Amino acid sequence: GRPAWAAAGVPDPAPVVKTRIGANECWTGPLMPGQKAAAAIIADGNRYAPKDERGDFIKAVMAVENVPYDHVAPWPGSSDPLSRAVVSFCSPTRGLVTADPTFELAGRTATWLGAPVKAVPLKADYSHDVKAMLAANPNAGLYYICTPNNPTGTMTPLADIEWLVANKPKDAIVLIDEAYTHFADKAPVASYMAAAGKDVIVMRTFSKIFGMAGMRMGFIMARPDIIAKMMRYDGGMQSGALPLPSLACATASLTDASGIMARRKEMEEARGMTLAHLKKKGLTVLPTAVNMFMVDWKTKPAKDMQAAFMKEDVAIGRNWPIWPTVSRITVGSMEDMKNFTRAFDKISAA
Ligand code: PLP
Repeated sequence: GRPAWAAAGVPDPAPVVKTRIGANECWTGPLMPGQKAAAAIIADGNRYAPKDERGDFIKAVMAVENVPYDHVAPWPGSSDPLSRAVVSFCSPTRGLVTADPTFELAGRTATWLGAPVKAVPLKADYSHDVKAMLAANPNAGLYYICTPNNPTGTMTPLADIEWLVANKPKDAIVLIDEAYTHFADKAPVASYMAAAGKDVIVMRTFSKIFGMAGMRMGFIMARPDIIAKMMRYDGGMQSGALPLPSLACATASLTDASGIMARRKEMEEARGMTLAHLKKKGLTVLPTAVNMFMVDWKTKPAKDMQAAFMKEDVAIGRNWPIWPTVSRITVGSMEDMKNFTRAFDKISAA
């Protein structure tokens, strides 16, 4: 069985294999301005806050997202605020509505809390079915929308999210998880709804394009009373004080627009090569906007394919129970993806 910490949503430790394209990490480390800022602040690590690093981070968010200062809260990653949002707004009488397939952490936390969970299948275009989500529980405490969605890499139109925000029950929150937003070309972002004081939480992480998964940084954008509700049981310390190198790295990375763009282009190139190869071999790949894609092996269980790739020193992603023959693959570096296509050719020839 899975250890208790894994059940709580922490990913399984990745086995040390050469090609790691299973956990939606970035193929490379933090952007260079971030690395420099992180290294520079270590000497001042004796202080909780040598200057106003937390404030500087929030100001960087304000500059790129156009939200007020008091509508931003940084966290060590986004898993923590995601679980806290569930604990803050769900209960045995106010359930969670999520999608299937999607990132499961919210569902796991709700189950632990004793709150009923409804997981509503994605639409045929793999966007969230917001009308069916509301119908599934018209009195839920939290509606979870992951866009671009993990594991499909598909997006839900802002108009659908706006409809859900306008039609959801009073006191319910719509949580919009934008972990993969920077990987998508012209991704629709929902920060304006947070700035407008709607009942939303917009969530971001530095674990993806920013290459900081192990450094633990994320933030939410929401009304101050929503943030206060999520922070009320930690005395402000847990979410108020963050590791300085991570904070400094995130601040310097967030505003590095050209660095972010270059990284997305690099991913698109590696993804293009991979998808063309799989298509040539006759495989079905679901549409994707970001650094992951779902491949349907059709006749083979995804679990067997994952094991076969592992024998070739390539760790691909898992499958979701709703689609037993479909694996999630993270787009890594061009070299990673060449290892993947080579391993695939070998496996299919065997
Ligand atoms: N949200 C989504 C959609 C994710 O895919 C992940 C990680 O894979 C997370 C949140 C949590 O990541 P972290 O806690 O590293 O920010």
